[in-house]
Amino acid sequence: MENYLLHLECSSCGEIYPHEIPQNVCHSCGKPLFARYALEQLVDTWKPEHLQTRPPSLWRYRELLPICADEHIVSLGETITPLIHAKRLGAQLGLSELWIKDESRLPTGSFKARGLAMAISKAKELDISKLAIPSAGNAATALSVYAACAGIPAHIFMPKDTPVFNQETCRLAGANVTLIDGLITDAGKIVADRKKDAGWFDVSTLKEPYRVEGKKTMGFELAEQFGWKLPDVIIYPTGGGTGIVGMWKGFAELEAIGWIGKKRPRFISVQAAGCAPIVKAWEEGKSNAEPWQDAHTVAGGLRVPQAIGDFLILEAIYKSEGAAVAVTDDAIREAMQLLPTTEGILTCPEGAATVAALKPLIANGIIKPSEQVVLFNTGGYQA
Ligand SMILES: *Cc1c(COP(=O)(O)O)cnc(C)c1O
Repeated sequence: MENYLLHLECSSCGEIYPHEIPQNVCHSCGKPLFARYALEQLVDTWKPEHLQTRPPSLWRYRELLPICADEHIVSLGETITPLIHAKRLGAQLGLSELWIKDESRLPTGSFKARGLAMAISKAKELDISKLAIPSAGNAATALSVYAACAGIPAHIFMPKDTPVFNQETCRLAGANVTLIDGLITDAGKIVADRKKDAGWFDVSTLKEPYRVEGKKTMGFELAEQFGWKLPDVIIYPTGGGTGIVGMWKGFAELEAIGWIGKKRPRFISVQAAGCAPIVKAWEEGKSNAEPWQDAHTVAGGLRVPQAIGDFLILEAIYKSEGAAVAVTDDAIREAMQLLPTTEGILTCPEGAATVAALKPLIANGIIKPSEQVVLFNTGGYQA
């Protein structure tokens, strides 16, 4: 397989870094690095028809993925996730074109598998010997299993009230788990402070450049499933924001190689009322978000008081003429019942948050009855 990865580029100041050695953030401005590809070489040579004979997994978009040699790929069967026409839920809410992208079917039960499949494959390619991650839960579970299969030791730092499912699955997969008294941002500080002495590579959201490359495949699949025409609206539960940032980046790449046109879905970011820094920044028209104080919510994946990619999330929302909305924990709990009773989908609180957001978004006229609206159910139910 020929490889099109050129280098890494700072998403803020544009500084270029080689991809042949491990990289985290930009040395000059501390912002996330993006993988850049030789897109012009793909314009006439790579066509959607080429996908027809490839297996139904995210690796079908190989030309726009950052792994140089196939032998480094660590795959646990990252299936194309179903895009379900939610007719019963849609009818209840008065939406004729409501769709759910059900990410709960991925390895470890959440879409975090996409990012970690990519990050761990790249870590293997770069011969990285030890990994560390601060996590609210699902990223840790995904990292643990992929790292185990790659034979790379993993060190996990997570809040002590992280769901037992995540704590236990990390231990079962042989990771070294440390529970901390604090939030994911505090866990992130511990990793940052200790990584140099311990020799850990930091796999934090958007401080590691390749998780976002895995997440962008959500956008590739969506485009392919809709016949290379994008929907009107994407409603996405936002924590660190890799999903929105990744899909925004992925759509630009698809346009650059001529597979889609200029149209973008309006990105609607959903956060929990107890931790809504992006919603607050959007309401105030700001391009950066202030750290959220006393963050609390049942949706652990949304309990991210400060995101390093805040400006990238907000840029995607503004440029797509999207919006940001906060939902209460009560509304999330209600939606966790509404989704199984209408569509038979058992969901995590984060996925339910997108369902909870529909009522206020319809009431405020932000989404219209006949528009094509896609919700991301980012993970399955866990006890
Ligand atoms: C991590 C997580 C999120 C937040 O995802 P980002 O793309 O980092 O904003 C949402 N839902 C679930 C289930 C998660 O695990």
